[in-house]
Amino acid sequence: MSTTSMIDTQRLSLMLNELRLPAIKHIWGDFAARADKEGWPAARFLAALAEHEMAERDQRRMERHLKDAHLPAGKTLDNFAFDAVPMISKAQVIAMCAGDGWLEKGANLILFGPPGGGKTHLASAIGLALVENGWRVLFTRTSDLVQRLQVARRELALESALAKLDKYHLLVLDDFAYVSRDQAETSALFELISARYERRSLLITANQPFGEWNRVFPDPAMTLAAVDRLVHHATIFEMNVESYRRRTAEARRSGPGRPAAFTTPKVLDAVRDNQDDR
Ligand code: ADP
Ligand code: MG
Repeated sequence: MSTTSMIDTQRLSLMLNELRLPAIKHIWGDFAARADKEGWPAARFLAALAEHEMAERDQRRMERHLKDAHLPAGKTLDNFAFDAVPMISKAQVIAMCAGDGWLEKGANLILFGPPGGGKTHLASAIGLALVENGWRVLFTRTSDLVQRLQVARRELALESALAKLDKYHLLVLDDFAYVSRDQAETSALFELISARYERRSLLITANQPFGEWNRVFPDPAMTLAAVDRLVHHATIFEMNVESYRRRTAEARRSGPGRPAAFTTPKVLDAVRDNQDDR
């Protein structure tokens, strides 16, 4: 009679359920048969089961975090053509995907560039790599998040809504400059930036350079204060390229397109210069 048949396998299954060890429940039979056949010491058998459960647990956690991150599908570093944005160092991006060194101290990443230049793609790909490396990420269109925060404010729950976002090491705010005038007036975005300053990171994509951000906040002083906090510890990528879609369409017809001019004025000076424009 084999060792396996001497134990009550049904009861074992129940116990493994109760202990929440689904991977062990699933594989112990195969492992036990192999251990019996190959004469594994008991400790080796137990270690193999534990390792398996831990690996599956990590995998399940990562899948949960991935689902919770709401990243756009199919935007990865593997399918991002770095040669289309020669001003960006692939090595630097890959280093940032480890997360250490910037997410730990709540530093930010800001991607500027005209529409179609790959900002959302790159932001999503970085977010995905960070989740795979164990960090918590939430991707959202900026105006969607602001809307949620406005609702929270009306319900006198803005502070707890901001606190709930703390579980994300990185918030990706896509299309930052698309916040509407109504939304700007509530300053929820400013409170988010202040709440995360030097604690939790933001990755912002924007078509508009800092100089145009006056319409995102209720008043110029607040714009200045927000930009000041954002750039204090930030990496800025300027993706001054022509639309990738247009370029690839053109390349199919005639060869590679030329980058279009798009310049981002110097950070705070530009905000100051534009303060009178509202
Ligand atoms: P943006 O957010 O700057 O407006 P997107 O990231 O949405 O631009 O890019 C537009 C489309 O072109 C997307 O389908 C994106 O996947 C693709 N794309 C942009 N840049 C690249 C790139 N460098 N490599 C591969 N695909 C790209
Ligand atoms: Mg985009």
